[in-house]
Amino acid sequence: MPARIIDGKLLAERTRRDVAAGTAALRAAGKAVRLVAVLVGDSPAARVYAENQAKSCAAVGIEYQLCELPASISQREAVREIARLNDDASVTGIFLHTPLPAQLDVQQLQYAINILKDVEGVNPANIGHLFYGQTIIAPCTAAAVIEMIESTGVPIKGAEVAVVGASRIAGRPIALLLTARHATVTVCHIDTKETAAHTRAADMVVVAVGKPGLIGAADVKPGALVIDVGINRVEMQQADGTMVTKTVGDVRYDEVAAVAGWISPVPGGVGPMTVAMLLKNTLRAARLVYGMGSHEC
Ligand code: NAD
Repeated sequence: MPARIIDGKLLAERTRRDVAAGTAALRAAGKAVRLVAVLVGDSPAARVYAENQAKSCAAVGIEYQLCELPASISQREAVREIARLNDDASVTGIFLHTPLPAQLDVQQLQYAINILKDVEGVNPANIGHLFYGQTIIAPCTAAAVIEMIESTGVPIKGAEVAVVGASRIAGRPIALLLTARHATVTVCHIDTKETAAHTRAADMVVVAVGKPGLIGAADVKPGALVIDVGINRVEMQQADGTMVTKTVGDVRYDEVAAVAGWISPVPGGVGPMTVAMLLKNTLRAARLVYGMGSHEC
């Protein structure tokens, strides 16, 4: 039987509906949800991203403001701007657009964001809380992966999980959240001797590497749950010989779908759910700022 699909678009739509309802409830209580996105310099790509962000916030009732800083800003001045947003009681969430100009240290700036307003969950202190099995705000992609697994009803507790990829933004926080939910987690990376031995033994495989087609049917146990975090743009030749650019994951979807129990597609999987998780985190941050949220596992 072919794998059941973990539909990221559908889950994202449901998440947006929940966020809209939660935001409306806060607003009715006189508490606005207000996200300020810091954009340093004038990169056209970041500007497009910010415009899309503004639209998706507006669609769920989140107030959005762009805080534009000059490309020449010093580290000290940038930290001061973030401190100003931390101190501004009308700001409930802070997002830092990257990449940043070379003179700025991104991690230091992330560190400067008040952890309750850190909607991306990137402040090293927030990651530290995950290490202790507590979530204040989790990184969006890792949180998206957990919600997608939980949507299937397949228990995480006791599952053997292979996480392929160990980056700060994806693999490692995913492994921490899974461990906090009592999975047995193996993290594979570029120097893992035989990644396939780990993935083949796993009940769940989460792949976050950035190499198209890395994981095939022979790497997956029949019936396993497979989450593909990878987003790769590749040139493909069509039947008529013309070339097209397509978005693909790290998993060879068609062949893995024939053996897996569950699979998330690319596009339409972790990507849209990650975008929705930013909105969910923004609502969560506002609740925390207003003293209405609690830490959770
Ligand atoms: P990264 O380059 O920072 O990390 C890649 C990781 O994969 C490293 O830990 C590396 O050791 C490991 N790796 C490399 N080759 C490997 C191999 N052959 N076998 C096992 N491990 C190997 O990448 P990243 O930022 O974590 O992104 C990974 C992929 O996930 C990219 O395609 C990226 O676009 C995508 N991504 C998607 C989302 C989303 O919202 N869906 C979010 C973040 C990243």
